[in-house]
Amino acid sequence: MSRICDPRRLSKIELLSLLACKQSYRCYYCNIDISQNPTLEHIQPISRGGMFTDVYNLAAACYECNTNKGDFTEKEFRDFIALHNRYPIAYERLQAYVVRKIFAWLHYHRFTLHRHT
Ligand SMILES: [Zn+2]
Repeated sequence: MSRICDPRRLSKIELLSLLACKQSYRCYYCNIDISQNPTLEHIQPISRGGMFTDVYNLAAACYECNTNKGDFTEKEFRDFIALHNRYPIAYERLQAYVVRKIFAWLHYHRFTLHRHT
């Protein structure tokens, strides 16, 4: 297998550079410019069955998204961002981790958000 095709043989920095380039230096989730400080993100968290070595489970994300996502799945986190965008003032007044707790509870009880289209 050639070195260039096997992501496991790339360094973390090389992999992150390739992912960021592929995404036009935009965060995978919020689309913010990440050319200065991209972080390596597992789309499906390892704690929830995501593969550590699967290149398709990797993305470049901004620090804030990576921190806030925690062990959310992609679907849960995109709903979380939608909630943030829908109630920005409420979100700013609460600590992000409090919002995460509320959101996890909502998900647990199968509430769904009505997104703006
Ligand atoms: Zn982001």
